[in-house]
Amino acid sequence: MTRWVYNFGNGTADGAADMRNLLGGKGANLAEMSNLGLPVPPGFTITTEVCTWYYDHDKSYPDDLKAQVEEALAKVGAVTGRKFGDLKNPLLVSVRSGARVSMPGMMDTVLNLGLNDETVKAIGEEAGDMRFAYDSYRRFIQMYSDVVLGVDHHEFEEILEEHKSRNDLGLDTEITAEDWVGIIDKFKGLVENDLGKPFPQDPHEQLWGAIGAVFGSWMTHRAQTYRRLHDIPSDWGTAVNVQAMVFGNMGETSATGVAFTRNPSTGEKALYGEFLVNAQGEDVVAGIRTPQDITEKARIEAGSTRPSLENLMPEAFAEFQSICDRLEAHYRDMQDLEFTIEKGKLWMLQTRSGKRTAKAALKIAVDMAAEGLLSEEEAVTRVEPGALDQLLHPTIDPKAKRDIIASGLPASPGAASGEIVFTSDEAEQAKGDGRKVILVRVETSPEDIHGMHASEGILTSRGGMTSHAAVVARGMGKPCVAGAGMVRIDYRNGTISAGGRTLNKGDVITIDGASGQILVGEVDMLQPALSGDFGTLMGWADGVRRMKVRTNAETPADAKVARDFGAEGIGLCRTEHMFFEGERIIAVREMILSETEEGRRAALAKLLPMQRQDFAEIFEIMKGLPVTIRLLDPPLHEFLPKSDEEVAEVAGSMGVSAEKLQERAHSLEEFNPMLGHRGCRLLVSYPEIAEMQARAIFEAAIQAGKATGAPVVPEIMVPLVGLKGELDMVRASIEAMAAAVQAETGESLTYQIGTMVELPRAALQAAEIAKSAEFFSFGTNDLTQTTFGISRDDAASFLGTYQTKGLLEQDPFVSLDQTGVGELVKIGAERGRSTRPDMKLGICGEHGGDPASIGFCETVGLDYVSCSPFRVPIARLAAAQAALKART
Ligand code: PEP
Ligand code: MG
Repeated sequence: MTRWVYNFGNGTADGAADMRNLLGGKGANLAEMSNLGLPVPPGFTITTEVCTWYYDHDKSYPDDLKAQVEEALAKVGAVTGRKFGDLKNPLLVSVRSGARVSMPGMMDTVLNLGLNDETVKAIGEEAGDMRFAYDSYRRFIQMYSDVVLGVDHHEFEEILEEHKSRNDLGLDTEITAEDWVGIIDKFKGLVENDLGKPFPQDPHEQLWGAIGAVFGSWMTHRAQTYRRLHDIPSDWGTAVNVQAMVFGNMGETSATGVAFTRNPSTGEKALYGEFLVNAQGEDVVAGIRTPQDITEKARIEAGSTRPSLENLMPEAFAEFQSICDRLEAHYRDMQDLEFTIEKGKLWMLQTRSGKRTAKAALKIAVDMAAEGLLSEEEAVTRVEPGALDQLLHPTIDPKAKRDIIASGLPASPGAASGEIVFTSDEAEQAKGDGRKVILVRVETSPEDIHGMHASEGILTSRGGMTSHAAVVARGMGKPCVAGAGMVRIDYRNGTISAGGRTLNKGDVITIDGASGQILVGEVDMLQPALSGDFGTLMGWADGVRRMKVRTNAETPADAKVARDFGAEGIGLCRTEHMFFEGERIIAVREMILSETEEGRRAALAKLLPMQRQDFAEIFEIMKGLPVTIRLLDPPLHEFLPKSDEEVAEVAGSMGVSAEKLQERAHSLEEFNPMLGHRGCRLLVSYPEIAEMQARAIFEAAIQAGKATGAPVVPEIMVPLVGLKGELDMVRASIEAMAAAVQAETGESLTYQIGTMVELPRAALQAAEIAKSAEFFSFGTNDLTQTTFGISRDDAASFLGTYQTKGLLEQDPFVSLDQTGVGELVKIGAERGRSTRPDMKLGICGEHGGDPASIGFCETVGLDYVSCSPFRVPIARLAAAQAALKART
């Protein structure tokens, strides 16, 4: 018999923290807290395997599930002294989702389940508070109808708002029990009207409806989008947690809140959180009421006059604080907690590793190592490499003039400017048009994920530091100002106003997620300096990493940035990229369009000094570090003149007629330029190109060697080789030029010649090709293109569909297809080394900056990865984590 259900609570549990694959993160941690003897309301977890079963069996359940759920419910009833569905002593439960990794806002929660027209009375009598009971019931109808029955929650809000304005009431807490009874009738009427059947009164029907809704929400569009963005496989499934209710809305001695054991924005070691008196969980995150600070310190810092939990409920606070310390030490990580205080008694509802900004992740990792909680190596594993991107975000120049229109909460760091848009669809469309936008919303919801992704930053007028907007923006590394209550957002007229000023949709604003300020117009930004914790952690990472990290750079500026970020050489200098600048393109076009060798040589002679100077500068910047220069690899279509003006320009320079040149250009057009006359094929046809480039490289090496006093050993790389003979032919041109330059200058030259491996044939024939190559660099952009037979330039139009239809988990041009393209990399590496055991191997496709792909490169034993300058720190950390993983 398969076990589908696991109980927890009352100081024991069937599960434990290490069962998160089966129980989901929330379920596993509830079990662990129970095992630790912490006050956890009893409950049970329906496993993720049920979710998988559900989708494998046409959305049905295993036969024995029902009996197991009944048994688990009875156990919860026994602990609480209640019974589910009982009219006198009813057990009420919450139903929540919980996948292996937390997916904030993605899944839905139902509270107060089990209430109906009868049980509500029993609950009210027992609590001696009918208002509380009816408040809970109306919440349940609202939530259940929204999440399970699909009735839009705005329709309920409207009924509520209308009641409040008719009776001149400000807050929900001013509504009386009798009022709620009337409102509940209207709520039920609304449901019946919308659905053609009454709101379900049978608690069991309610429960199975909620369980089905949790499983159903696993496959919603928004959940699928989130999974795609976070590389979460869809077969993981979600668990369902059913837990006895405890009530934060039982009057003034009850409360509910969320907290982090350390500050999730800055990493500061201080309990940090928010709570609301007489409220239920969703009130805190929904941002309907503005929450209060948990600690006195935070309250004072925020300048708030409303009391802290520490002051208001000192006993519950003290117990909570000690549980926080205990959980942090137990999990050896910063925890994100949810709690409820019911009539003065503290209950823990959740603990999990807290999401944090990159800045906080660094600080917490470095601090915890200093506190002895973690080893330095463990600290290295605690920062997600991709998150370092956040640290590279700009901040507002302190010298810049700030025209501040309003401010809100500093919810996610970084600053950004963009046009105001009010909907996520507008944001996405603007992004598609190449415009930068700030998404401005009263509050965000999971439906806004795509818009948040498309915008530079997010501004909301409602909600706290743990609101949806704040949590999701931090996860995305986007600047966010939340809860800017002084900003009035008018969706209908497309305006925002504050302090007597009004801005329109399309106007540019800047938000500063570090200070919470909202500024008019675009503001000067500063690039961040990487120091302190960053340097410390990177130092530890560099100490454990095996692979080197190089950069892909072709301009002196890029090379300098990369070196500052810790690049240990250049792994790919794409020489054709140097050809687009200024006047050069004319000479390049002349070279390509010449019909004679003589003509080509004349054009190449113009390019030589420019190339030599560029190379010399790069060698000087990279002094002492290896530099790999790739010979020309232009898909010709990128270089051919297109407009009449361009044609006339080149024709003039070459002294031929525009018509003749146009004819030649047409004759060079290819059906499939990416598979056409490019790479070494061009060098085979026109050896003079390789000769000019080799000369520029050698002369620059001599020049830079003299200038810096450090001899330069250039690595010359031949692109798109498929046949050993191609490489041999180009090699002969390079070697002849080396001999010539040595003879002319009397200097001796040391250099290496290698090849890119970017065609399946090159990988398969690596043993043969290695006879002529001193190094290989895997060009996985082309290797992905040629292995899949998918055009790099056309993939975008259909790869998205492949991902949503589940054919591909990830875009293979972003993260290496390890089983297909990766297999060729592995074969190429093994076969290359079978010929030349000490052969240097690297990767220089975009995958060289992708953490998962870097992990793969470690397993194949590559010597280095090479990536764009801004990804160098990410690659350093990812390479360190890969090395640590390889040790275990
Ligand atoms: C590659 O193909 O992976 C590569 C690095 O070369 P390019 O992107 O310039 O074709
Ligand atoms: Mg390539």
